Amino acid sequence: MTSVTNGISRGRQALRRDVNKRISEVGAGSEAEVVEVFCECGHVRCADRVRIATEAYEQVRTSAACFVVRSGHEETGADQLVARHNGYVVVERKSRR
Ligand SMILES: [Zn+2]
Repeated sequence: MTSVTNGISRGRQALRRDVNKRISEVGAGSEAEVVEVFCECGHVRCADRVRIATEAYEQVRTSAACFVVRSGHEETGADQLVARHNGYVVVERKSRR
């Protein structure tokens, strides 16, 4: 895999978080145990989705520095790996510039 340094958008990442919040809120309302949220890796071209337990996602989003990304979409060097799950990883953004 080649390293991708272009096409990273923090703004887009924040936007995704916003969309995912709404998705997970709808999921919580329908008592779904698993929600399908957008990968929060910040790559402009990434439109992948991540299936995650509603409860797990709610935990991740309590921290503004933590993001859910699809396995392999984490940015080594920029992201701190918090937890590795089946199909996705939870990362913590080291700096918030
Ligand atoms: Zn991604």
